Amino acid sequence: MAQVGRHGLLVAVSTVALAASLAMGGLLAVGPSPVEAQQATQAATSKDPGSITFTVRAPGNLKSAKLDYFVRSPNRDNADNFVGGTGDGTVAGADASYVLQANTAQRYIPVGSQFRFHWVLTTDSGSTTTVDSDYLFLDGRYEWKSQSDGQVTVYWYGNNDAAAATALQSSKSSLDDNNKLLEVQVKYPIRLIVYRSEDEGRAAKQPRSSAFDAQVQTGGQRVGPDLILVFANNRDVVRHETAHIVTHVAGDGPFVGVPSWLDEGTAVYAQLDPGPEYRSGLQLGIAADQTLPLTSINSPTSQPSLVNLFYGQSWSVVKFMVDTYGQPKFADLYRTIYAGARIDDALLKVYNLDQDGLYNAWRAKNGLKPVAASPRATAAAAAAVTGTVAPLGVPSGGGVVTGATAVSGDAGGTSSDSGNTASAGPSSGVAIAVLGATVVVALALGGGAFMMMRRK
Ligand SMILES: [Zn+2]
Repeated sequence: MAQVGRHGLLVAVSTVALAASLAMGGLLAVGPSPVEAQQATQAATSKDPGSITFTVRAPGNLKSAKLDYFVRSPNRDNADNFVGGTGDGTVAGADASYVLQANTAQRYIPVGSQFRFHWVLTTDSGSTTTVDSDYLFLDGRYEWKSQSDGQVTVYWYGNNDAAAATALQSSKSSLDDNNKLLEVQVKYPIRLIVYRSEDEGRAAKQPRSSAFDAQVQTGGQRVGPDLILVFANNRDVVRHETAHIVTHVAGDGPFVGVPSWLDEGTAVYAQLDPGPEYRSGLQLGIAADQTLPLTSINSPTSQPSLVNLFYGQSWSVVKFMVDTYGQPKFADLYRTIYAGARIDDALLKVYNLDQDGLYNAWRAKNGLKPVAASPRATAAAAAAVTGTVAPLGVPSGGGVVTGATAVSGDAGGTSSDSGNTASAGPSSGVAIAVLGATVVVALALGGGAFMMMRRK
């Protein structure tokens, strides 16, 4: 069990490149420099999920200091993939600092992210680059403990040991089950950040509108390809979110992502039980014949009133697919999407049904009449929809408006795998994508959350 300090990591590093060794928990241990005068000291700290402060003290007065930071974002082929950016430090004498905002409308870097950083320091005697330090971004309001089992590490605080143990075991079993279901292997380590409640973790959550948040509770979020935030002590939340790790590896290719209904359906299918909210959402939708065309739920619903139906129906469709056509075809569907096929083409190839055909087969199974093919959003129309997302409204009182949530077919795709711009890191030797001076670290993934309507 590793203890991770409240105020983060402080290491002395030399401006001369030193061999660095990675210690447990992703912290970096660096040997002392033999040349005292050349030492720079750098650190990263965080007092809360909103920002990270990077500091450096140089051996002499600074003219400028530029921070290069990178966040680990593994993909299927490269567990050491990084995305990152730069920041101009505020200089005062021999000291410089840079505050990286971590949770704004433009940028979301989740708690649990693994940083690597160094400084480029300019003094009267020239320019030097400090060696890389690693920093695990944890919520500085709490004292974190950690435990690993296999490739899963859980982080928690306070008197929440039991929840952490449950999360660790649930994640491992879900990983195994979904690796089998989708015939893939998640090869990289994954981290679970366990909060004691949604309230205590609110500042760490991926931002959504407060109107949505007020009506929908979030049990957990997959916020990176290797990172899950857990807000509810519930094994099915962890099983669900871990399934999203696997669906990402199995289906999110370089160009096309897994549509939300398939992603969420697989995640709910990974639960031991879908639970009463999703079941009743589904049953009410079927009873009123107000189920959602699959073409309308390629992206997560933004309507709180549809959340339970969206998850419940997605689960039911996935269960129908696996029960009716078998697991091998289901894995094949994911492979086909990963290879670059859009969902309708992938379904046609594997099942000889497009989304409307599958939807009607599922409706027939549930005693509902077939419906006509839904209009396809053209690229232009989809862009228009995406570009004019209305503020999340109050539920309209039960009417399920089909098509109201229609968005482009690949909006659920992730943006974290943009490793095609990867270049060699300045001193780390790993693949690093440097995306510009004011980079958005795009770890925010479409969907991936475990949500349900709040009980009134
Ligand atoms: Zn989910």
